[in-house]
This record gives sequence, C-alpha cells and structure tokens, in this order.
Amino acid sequence: MNRVFIKTYGCQMNERDSEAVGALLRARGYCIVASEEEADVVLLNTCSVRDQAEQKALGKAGRLLRAKRTAAANGTQAPLLGIIGCMAQNKGHALVDSLPDLDLIVGTQKFHQVPTHLDHIMESLRGLGPRPSTIIDIAEEEGSQNAINGHAPGRRVSAFVSVMQGCDMHCSYCIVPHTRGAERSRRMEDIVAEVRALAAAGTREVTLLGQIVNRYGAKEFRSSGGKSPFAQLLEKVHAVEGVERVRFTSPHPTAFRRDIVECFRDLPKLCEHIHLPVQSGSDRMLRAMRRPYTRERFLRTVDALRDACPQMCFSTDIIVGFPGETDADFAETLALFDEVRFDMAFIFKYSTRSGTAAAALGDTVPREVKEARNNMLLERLGAFSLARNQSLVGTEQEVLVEGRARRGEGVFMGRNRGNRKVLFPGTADMEGRLLPVRISRATTTVVFGDVVKH
Ligand code: SF4
Repeated sequence: MNRVFIKTYGCQMNERDSEAVGALLRARGYCIVASEEEADVVLLNTCSVRDQAEQKALGKAGRLLRAKRTAAANGTQAPLLGIIGCMAQNKGHALVDSLPDLDLIVGTQKFHQVPTHLDHIMESLRGLGPRPSTIIDIAEEEGSQNAINGHAPGRRVSAFVSVMQGCDMHCSYCIVPHTRGAERSRRMEDIVAEVRALAAAGTREVTLLGQIVNRYGAKEFRSSGGKSPFAQLLEKVHAVEGVERVRFTSPHPTAFRRDIVECFRDLPKLCEHIHLPVQSGSDRMLRAMRRPYTRERFLRTVDALRDACPQMCFSTDIIVGFPGETDADFAETLALFDEVRFDMAFIFKYSTRSGTAAAALGDTVPREVKEARNNMLLERLGAFSLARNQSLVGTEQEVLVEGRARRGEGVFMGRNRGNRKVLFPGTADMEGRLLPVRISRATTTVVFGDVVKH
C-alpha cells in the first residue's frame, strides 16, 4: 500500500511542487509510480488559474471516486484519492460537499504535510488507528510558510528550483494571490545549496521558478551595488560549477529592471529565452486587468533585452475577450504581437473566474468573437514560430540532450538555448551532455538535425 501516482495539472510551479511532494514521499518510504493503474494512492496536484482547469480535475476526481465505490461494492480495493495544490487551497472544505469520499485535501502551503497525512490514513487501513474522514489541511492565513522548499534531488538533466512563492500583484482576473498567498522568498544560501546538490547529482540546467520570479527577495533582502536580490541570485547560481545553463520563469514586465537585463549581457550561462507575459496590447485593457505597465513600457523592455542579447527568443501569455475588449483593443494586441514576433505564446480565451475582481465585470465578449481573436493570434504565432525555426536550418545549435524522444527508436530530444525542441539520431551516452547539432529541417514546433562530430 505504498505506491503513489501524482497527476499534475497546470504550470511549471505545479510540476516542481509535484516533484517535491514525490521526493518527500520517497524519503518516507513511499514509491512514486508512473500510472494510476499501478497506484495505491492517487494525488491530483491541481490548478485554479481557469475554471476549465478546475473542472478537468473535478471530472477526473469524480471518475476515480466512482471507481472506488464500485470496487468497494465488489469487495476490492481502489486507490485512495487526494486533491492537493491550488484548487484544494481555493475550494477548501467545499470540495467535500461535491466529493464526499475524498481521502485527503491539502493546500499549496501545506504540501510538506502530505506524507504525514498519508501515514495516518495507511495506519488506519492497517487497523492501527481510527479511520479519519477526509483529512483537510489548508493554510487559513495568506503567507504562512511552505516548508517544501529544498528537497533531495534525483538525477535530472534539467531541474526546476523554486525561489519564491506567492504574489502581491492582484491582477483582476487571477486567483493565484488567493491560492498561493503573499510573496515570500527563500534564503539565497539555501537556493544556491540546492543548485549545488543538483549539479553534483548530474543536473546541467536549472530553471529558477517563482510566481513573479524577478521580484525575488524584494520584500526580504536588500539591493547591493545597484543589483536587486534577483540579479544577485542569478550571479550566484551562474557561478555554481557543473551548471551549464540557467533559465527563470515567470518574470513580471514591471519588475524587469536594468540590472536584470544586464544579466543577459554579462552571464553567458543565462539562456536567451524569456517568457514575458503581456496579456494585452491595449493600455485600456491592461488597466482593467490591473497590470501596472503600459504597452509602451513593455515594448521598451523587449527592446532593452534585444539590445543586451540580439538572439533573444520571447514567449508570452495573452488573454483574448477580457470583459470590455473591443475590436480596437484587440487590434492593439495584434500590432504588439507583430512587433515583438513572439516565438511561442499561450493564448487564453477569457472566462469568468469566481473569486476574482474581474468576475464582477461579467463575460461580455461573445464566444465566437473570442474564438476569432484566438484564431487570429494562433495563425500569426504559427507563422512566426515556423519562420524562427526555419532560420535555424543550416546553423549549428548547442543542444542539451534530455533523453529519448517519443518519435521512434534511436531518436533523442534536447533543447537549444532559445528553448526550441531539437530531435536528432543519438545514443544513450549523449544524455545530459551539451552537444552541437546541425539543423537540417524545421516544422512549426520542432527542428531536426544531426550531432556534429568535431
Ligand atoms: S502577477 Fe498577476 S497574473 Fe501573475 S500570479 Fe500575480 S496576480 Fe496572477
């Protein structure tokens, strides 16, 4: 009864949290398995950013609980079920009303308690204690500490390292400040120690993670020599021996100051790809979204980054159909999209999210208008992405080999510094190495090539 399957919904932050919960469970003697069919316990690490994401996890939980009831009626055992993460934090006790057979509900700031709660449930199943009804563990206060930071690394070529959590921004459409609490940052020494341990275990690339990663330490630590705590952290991580590449996500355009831009010029391990969520190209919409920058300021940041690093690749998030978005507002988004020529974008059709300030504005843009705007952006994105990939044909790209691709025998996968997926014929001994790959062919989403033997 100790096999746990963790299914992750949502963002990289969630992926990283699932990894960390897995590491804590392993340390407690649990075994993390790759599918729910092999599992004694299923944990759904959920996302609350959109209603649709919550509905998906709720649908999955409903199906698992029905299977559990059928199994019980047949005298067999189905996996225990826990909901953890953002939806657990957001919906809390209300989850039990719709899913009364849940075994566990654990919010974002209580991940570190998951092994203890599972131990209690397991003991009760072995007759060593009373059977608890649904265990619910949710931080009631924003900003309470999450003791999950820092976990034993396994061997991963590329690893996420959480540096801060929470957000003080309160964008009008976003539930994150509610689910993840106020901004709080880890100590720099602890982060650097974690990166050193990862490097010693074989990690070559680290991605520093935070809700607004470039506000790292803004509340806790001082600037020094004109460098913000985040720029200081980047320098320290950059100096760790064995780490060959450094990335970070997601920064906020407002907190992108000169010292961070200069890191792209001065720190060669810092890869030339940045995810910079713009959300809209219309100042009117940005104000309604409570995003504290203008389109002009955003474009200035893009220019500064391109000046510091001409090969910089940009990805972004855009919301279409925010309440009140007119054709003229959307035209500004399109124009901005054309100006930056994003290589990658996550485009979201707005839907009302209860618990957010924007919920009071209603959902005023018709579905077909959102659909059309979404498609216009997707069309452009496809063209930009293909053009960028085609521009790589004939070049030699530095690729960090992550492992086998799912596309047939002998095909390996890695990423170039601009975060493009590269496929090439390879062998297992290439995994974890930085290799030059000459690009021979490109599609919209991936490029193909061959390792160059110098
Ligand atoms: S910056 Fe805005 S969108 Fe991002 S997590 Fe904070 S409130 Fe949400």
